[in-house]
Amino acid sequence: MYLDNMPKPFGKMVYRCIGCGRSYDIHNFIYTCPSCKSLLRIENKEFDKLKQKTGSQWTQVFDARIKPKEYKLMGIFRFHELILPIIPIEDIIYLGEGNTPVVEANDELSTWVGCKFFVKMEGLNPSASFKDRGMASAISYLNHVIRVKDLDNVLGICASTGDTSAAAALYMSYLPKSKVKSVVLLPEGKVTPQQLSQPLGSGAIVIELPGVFDDCMEIVEELANDYNVFLLNSKNPVRIQGQKTYAYEVAQQLDWDLSDLVVVVPVGNAGNITAIMEGFVDLYELGIVDELPAILAVQSYHADPVVKWMETGKYQPMSVKPSVAQAAMIGDPVSFPKVARLVAEHFSDRFHAIAVTEDEIMEGMLMANRHGHVVCTQGGESIAGLKKALKQGIIKASARFVVNSTSHQLKFASFQQMYFDNRFDPEYEINPKDSFKNSPIRMEAKASVIADFLGLQRK
Ligand SMILES: *Cc1c(COP(=O)(O)O)cnc(C)c1O
Ligand SMILES: [Zn+2]
Repeated sequence: MYLDNMPKPFGKMVYRCIGCGRSYDIHNFIYTCPSCKSLLRIENKEFDKLKQKTGSQWTQVFDARIKPKEYKLMGIFRFHELILPIIPIEDIIYLGEGNTPVVEANDELSTWVGCKFFVKMEGLNPSASFKDRGMASAISYLNHVIRVKDLDNVLGICASTGDTSAAAALYMSYLPKSKVKSVVLLPEGKVTPQQLSQPLGSGAIVIELPGVFDDCMEIVEELANDYNVFLLNSKNPVRIQGQKTYAYEVAQQLDWDLSDLVVVVPVGNAGNITAIMEGFVDLYELGIVDELPAILAVQSYHADPVVKWMETGKYQPMSVKPSVAQAAMIGDPVSFPKVARLVAEHFSDRFHAIAVTEDEIMEGMLMANRHGHVVCTQGGESIAGLKKALKQGIIKASARFVVNSTSHQLKFASFQQMYFDNRFDPEYEINPKDSFKNSPIRMEAKASVIADFLGLQRK
């Protein structure tokens, strides 16, 4: 069968308010409803036209694009029709994001956790976290709007727990300096040295503020409301569009069979879990998959407003305590209203949430990395949540699991070191176990000394 496989600009995309339902022109930079201040979704008014292809025709389209006929479709824009179909290919910014591998946990790690599972390695994105997915869509969109509206002097800005700023600065640095400037707001001392080095290396203006992420977010929201800036946080629904591709890829990697699947996601500002659920809903509505997976949301006890909401039925922003899952250390997730809506409308019988301790997070990370993975503390958090949910009988070990390792081990090397050195502030409530510690051993540069130490047998 002939497949018209190259995407062409198509559709009528609008921002749709999740509160009052009003819609707004997609070419404007708005992040909340001008009328009622609720969050916005992106809607393709011609989404139903996509139903002219059957589910299996769509799978052929996406499968064919894995082959490198057009390099810009190698990443998230393989799913062009489902994310931003108004953008012509030449406006797409592709820096190598997406298409991350899934790696099966080996027997030892599976036994420790209590089930077989796959880790999806989002740390292998260009700035080493999943944030690149949303940034690829946001910056492609920005690039497109700059061209069609002939803009210059665009200021891209975000608040960040570290990885959003790394991704934003990286993607912004690809656009012409004559047209854009990149600014990131970070909570001072609350991002790792590696994360801080990233926007600095990309040449962004880095502003450090006192407080935690939630404080930076408040400032950036005020700037986005009152000044002419382009907001690069996941409150901007253009970010969510790109992050939906995590769900599309998981489905594709499982050959479009989502039966008995549980997708495990660490939750901070709740942009990622929103995008992942929306992505699965798209596939379901187009008949590309036959069912939705279950979702397991994982948070640290030190920042667990979503878990508390599931337990009590009431949403209450909280003050966070220090957490090694620092990229998810958020007490008032901006996208919470979207999560609540998605759970009510699509996932009510298949949404679980669980809180884990700081010790469990560290042990999840260290254990995974001792068995062939490169997971960050948030990946450790996901694994710890899976282990605990199995133990508590929330989910069954016979299911299939994909765990989101949201960034790379190396970004969080400082927490590993603090664990090995037993140097955590008491507020972290971490008690390192000797069995997980490791440190270099200084020795004389002599083969016989090393051989003695290692107990080697002479040949
Ligand atoms: C941003 C981030 C999270 C949390 O994702 P949200 O969309 O804020 O819920 C988790 N892990 C890492 C590594 C992150 O950078
Ligand atoms: Zn509204």
